Amino acid sequence: MSLVEPGEPAALASGVRTAFADRYGEPPVSVGRAPGRVNLIGEHTDYNAGLVLPVALPHATYAAVCARADELVRITSVQQDETWEGTLAEIGPRSVDGWAGYAAGVIWALRQAGHDLPGVDLLVDSRVPLGAGLSSSAALECSVAVALADLLGLDLTDDVRRELIEACIRAETEVVGAPTGGMDQTVAVLGEAGRALLIDFASQETRQVPLDLADHTLLVTDTRVSHELTDGGYGARRADCDTAAHALGVPTLREADLASVDQLNEDRVRRRARHVVTEIQRVTDTVTALEQRDWDAVGTLFDASHLSMRDDFEISCPELDAAVSVAVQAGAVAARMTGGGFGGSSVSVVPDERVEAVMRAIDAAFALEGFRPPAHLHAVRPKVPTSSQLEPRYSAGPSTPCGVGSSR
Ligand code: ADP
Ligand code: MG
Repeated sequence: MSLVEPGEPAALASGVRTAFADRYGEPPVSVGRAPGRVNLIGEHTDYNAGLVLPVALPHATYAAVCARADELVRITSVQQDETWEGTLAEIGPRSVDGWAGYAAGVIWALRQAGHDLPGVDLLVDSRVPLGAGLSSSAALECSVAVALADLLGLDLTDDVRRELIEACIRAETEVVGAPTGGMDQTVAVLGEAGRALLIDFASQETRQVPLDLADHTLLVTDTRVSHELTDGGYGARRADCDTAAHALGVPTLREADLASVDQLNEDRVRRRARHVVTEIQRVTDTVTALEQRDWDAVGTLFDASHLSMRDDFEISCPELDAAVSVAVQAGAVAARMTGGGFGGSSVSVVPDERVEAVMRAIDAAFALEGFRPPAHLHAVRPKVPTSSQLEPRYSAGPSTPCGVGSSR
């Protein structure tokens, strides 16, 4: 069985410092950390001015940074083979191909916002599985943003956090060119371990929702089916939602009601809109059910959400359907697919004593079906002491350039 451990934040921060020093010949000045996330419920609702309920994972990305005396930018990832090298002037919309664009994009966006960033050396390492629907992209962007904020001497006030979120969204949409509704960057910067973050994309308000799972574990199963947000599936769903809102005469589907949606002529557009409108209601209902620790209600809501994504929004796949149904058969009280769809992960609420059995049952079902072996993560393990959980950032002391005058 494959269980992805989050690691100890202090050890991982120290590891990224050492890797930075090995790679660039001197220690970093700042280290930033930002978590991946699993969305409990509220899928494809962010760009419809709706509600989402993500939970920050204990799995995170760590970024070490050092200012340079020149305009050079070097970006290394433990998860990639090659260091990216370029100049500040080279970084702009769609100008950096591949993974480095996520990090370089943040430098660009912060400079666009008026911050006087010099060239930098960067190194990142991550415990968030890449491309698993657990938001490794936002974890990468936001860890870099937090490290750069420290380099700039900025305290992480509410305003600064909002600014970092905006910069990370611009990095992903403009520099990488992957559309994103903003949920991932928001929870990567504002999320707290053990709590869900209710985000309202109409008002931009956020609320920390205590996630007291009692004797349950929040289990995430990465199906290892890689999704591609840049493919047509995501864009096509957004376009259908826009078409529906237009036909209904409302600015966004947040303002639409189910009775009017059911009157829409085009079958596909009607189903897409129905998913969004019912899903937004399910987020509100899930918050209530969680507060009451009403697991039956959470189970019913997760069920309805999964079916809505499978049948109305059509973004599931055989691996996700299997992970969800097997989890429930093996004892999960609630399970659904999570993330943007077309692969990625499932999320389930499992009584602690059934976690092992659920993971094994999913592994066995995948083997029987000939699917790739899945990987599991414990997103919330209530019995683990909070010391193993998140610290927002690590500062390495004064924010002065290192290597100034050195011959790099
Ligand atoms: P998700 O955010 O769900 O993991 P995305 O497709 O949005 O999936 O982002 C995954 C991409 O982000 C990877 O293919 C890679 O380009 C980039 N990425 C994420 N984390 C890292 C990392 N630690 N090092 C290098 N690239 C990363
Ligand atoms: Mg992503």
